[in-house]
Amino acid sequence: MSDIEDVTFKLIHSHPEGVLQSELWKLLKIDSRKCSRVVKKMLDADRINRVEYKKNGVKTFLLKAKKIAVDPNLLIAGDELIPCINCEEECSVEDCPHLMDWMYQLAIEEFEKE
Ligand code: SF4
Repeated sequence: MSDIEDVTFKLIHSHPEGVLQSELWKLLKIDSRKCSRVVKKMLDADRINRVEYKKNGVKTFLLKAKKIAVDPNLLIAGDELIPCINCEEECSVEDCPHLMDWMYQLAIEEFEKE
């Protein structure tokens, strides 16, 4: 993926409600034709969805990033599933003891593989 495609995907991905194509090129500070080419590449790569949208009577497209499947192996350390899956606690990632324990287990497992 080129730099402009990467930046475009990140921008679309950061807007879960979607980004209008008629505004995307302005946000990216590129011309609309180049924006159309970038959008087409991402559609061809199946990274985004595009649906018709009318704003003030003018037709454009609403672009949304597709969800990327996560490798389930990345969610498991030993026999332990990442604790965030079922967590109902107030989240504080930086000092979460559950997550820290899980990461230690992951590190130990990696060390034992070597
Ligand atoms: S980081 Fe800790 S508190 Fe936050 S969701 Fe994961 S387990 Fe829960």
